[in-house]
Amino acid sequence: MRRPFIAGNWKMNTTEDEAVVLARAVAAGTGGVLCDLALCVPFPHLGPVRSALAGSHVALGAQDVYWEPKGAYTGEVSTAMLASYCRYVIVGHSERRQLFGDTDAWVRRKLEAVLASPLDPIVCVGELLGERRSGETEAVLERQLAAAFTGLPLSARVTVAYEPVWAIGTGETATPAVAQEACAFIRASLRHLGGEAADSVRIQYGGSVTPENAPDLLACPDIDGALVGGASRKSDQFAAIVASARP
Ligand code: PEP
Repeated sequence: MRRPFIAGNWKMNTTEDEAVVLARAVAAGTGGVLCDLALCVPFPHLGPVRSALAGSHVALGAQDVYWEPKGAYTGEVSTAMLASYCRYVIVGHSERRQLFGDTDAWVRRKLEAVLASPLDPIVCVGELLGERRSGETEAVLERQLAAAFTGLPLSARVTVAYEPVWAIGTGETATPAVAQEACAFIRASLRHLGGEAADSVRIQYGGSVTPENAPDLLACPDIDGALVGGASRKSDQFAAIVASARP
């Protein structure tokens, strides 16, 4: 049985004060929920938000990581640096892939480093609009998953976020049927790569999730949660999304 997992991705938003207020509001607004929760916040806010969430049911995450343990890598952070602050880290978000040049090979190196650390990864995969229109969705997902996971152990530590790029921040959500079909394909690909352990991996849907569309998306059998961008920065909306997650 996979426990639902809802994560917020604040991206490059919030001042420190706003981050603390928002984190406290999320913790206060989601008491008694039946799923795992995390907030993936900007690096400089990990410390303040960790304090704000101390003792709560809301876990903390970062939005990216570098694979080397230390050295002359200006601007980067290592798994060890993050692990003293948080539990989760996003790897391979489409904005990293599209705007900052993260390749499948880089995502693989980041994932290897995360799995060798105490951090738990949220690995993002998803197709571009043109790829969906030309019928390449499954080939893209298969390529991204194989690059990331071939030869690596699958377990309940791993979360995969299916985030069709055309649905991120656009207000356009995949229908539950489209999202379920892609997530079932991801599950089958993971089984092919890692056997039965694939059944313990949680698969989130991400892409313009709102309180209105969350119940139908989260009711799909292969969707175990959501990675939420815009709506995660409004505590009432995030709490409403979280409330629709049922084990
Ligand atoms: C995201 O950035 O991972 C995301 C899903 O964003 P949004 O919910 O705003 O589409």
